[in-house]
Amino acid sequence: MPTHTNHKFPCPICTAPRQVKLTKKNKPYLTCDPCGVQVFVRGPAGIEEFRRLIERGNREGLFERLAGMERCYRLSCPACGCKFWIEPKLIRTSSFDGSLKGFRCPKCRDTVPWEGKP
Ligand SMILES: [Zn+2]
Ligand SMILES: [Zn+2]
Repeated sequence: MPTHTNHKFPCPICTAPRQVKLTKKNKPYLTCDPCGVQVFVRGPAGIEEFRRLIERGNREGLFERLAGMERCYRLSCPACGCKFWIEPKLIRTSSFDGSLKGFRCPKCRDTVPWEGKP
């Protein structure tokens, strides 16, 4: 059975913080189920660096900040559940007064409202 650590590390794809686990040989790895990603750190130098990153991340609240950033710049479409980064080309404005209405979902093309986020 893998050992669960108290540490979290962001998934390289979706940046959501994921639990860091240890293999039987005490090597750290993390998995992200929604992305189907598994990251193994096998080399001694890599493990050393990985530990340093986790330590620094914990100390400076980097991972929380990252998660906060994700909430600001990523939207999830209520219609199809797809998550996407906001982009200028996806902006939907009101044809009435030109105000920002939201962003177009790249998948189902529904307008996802922008609720006054920064
Ligand atoms: Zn992920
Ligand atoms: Zn959608």
